[in-house]
Amino acid sequence: MSRVYNFSSGPAVLPEPVLLRARDEMLEYKDSGMSVMEMSHRTKAFEDIIYGAEKLLRELMGIPDDYKVLFLQGGASTQFAAIPLNIGSGSGIVDIIGTGMWTSKAKAEAVKYCKVNVVASSEDKIFTYIPKTERKDFTPDADYVHICWNNTIYGTRYTDIPDTGSVPLVADFSSAILSQEINVSDFGIIFAGAQKNIGPAGLTVVIVREDLIGKHREDTPTMLRYDIQASNDSLYNTPPTYSIYVCKLVLEWLKDMGGVKAIEKINERKAKAFYDHLDSSEMFRATVTGKDRSIMNIPFVTGNDELDKKFIYEADRAGFVNLKGHRSVGGMRASIYNAMPEQGVYSLIEFMRDFERKK
Ligand SMILES: *Cc1c(COP(=O)(O)O)cnc(C)c1O
Repeated sequence: MSRVYNFSSGPAVLPEPVLLRARDEMLEYKDSGMSVMEMSHRTKAFEDIIYGAEKLLRELMGIPDDYKVLFLQGGASTQFAAIPLNIGSGSGIVDIIGTGMWTSKAKAEAVKYCKVNVVASSEDKIFTYIPKTERKDFTPDADYVHICWNNTIYGTRYTDIPDTGSVPLVADFSSAILSQEINVSDFGIIFAGAQKNIGPAGLTVVIVREDLIGKHREDTPTMLRYDIQASNDSLYNTPPTYSIYVCKLVLEWLKDMGGVKAIEKINERKAKAFYDHLDSSEMFRATVTGKDRSIMNIPFVTGNDELDKKFIYEADRAGFVNLKGHRSVGGMRASIYNAMPEQGVYSLIEFMRDFERKK
């Protein structure tokens, strides 16, 4: 067996101890006589898994008691519709800060139900920075302000929390959840597809402040209603059971690592090493400069499409895979989520040095 260093933006690398544990428990979970995959979600064994996962997530993120944690399906993209349906019918006004494709997609759904203002955008510079905002930029009676915390495609992330006053801040944390310490109470809703930093695809985590539950439009589909999912502990119908199980293993792994504080240090170290290399290289450069640089997704280019292609090809053959940039940006992108070992980053840097030397 030979495992590569997988720099995929998602679904992404999982911690090896998690995969080994899942393998060990594949045929029989504890003494249940079956795999978690074969298990009813209405059993004590599965309840222990889903409640255990929630408890760990609450502990790791310091989620206050007045927030609900929902384990849903449909990906982060389904939340682009679920959010306006659930909390967008007060004034019916939504403010969005445009930082790339994921906020565009959120807007495209929200306009079906709400009046949407793009209050700031970094489109003028191909989304290579986070636009600055002040409280006066936001609509005082907006139902919510939508942001994407970490821009998986363009490689930017927020370092300051926009001051939206009393308007709830809704943040897409798909590619940044659990990568850094945050104060959950700064947000009304935090949501994330699991397949970047929490576990396998199929699970979507929504953390929602209780006072935002129960404000849904009448015609909201049952499955998208936060009140129904919350009052049923995310067990209204069959949840993505196996993904939740692996998520719990990832959370246990993270806790053993020392939690979010510890992984944040490692993430900062990995990102710094990679950016330092890009900033000192004559061949490669990062597309984002300054303080808005993501510590999870790092796009970079040589400036020459042919050379980019050759690099991606040779890196792949050397065991550094999925380095091709998003089709809308080109070049390369290294996604270095929590589960990417530090050594993976150092080995990639070494490979890039060799590649550059040989040219
Ligand atoms: C990957 C990603 C999405 C889309 O997630 P799905 O689960 O595929 O719907 C949305 N937002 C961000 C920031 C992402 O990185």
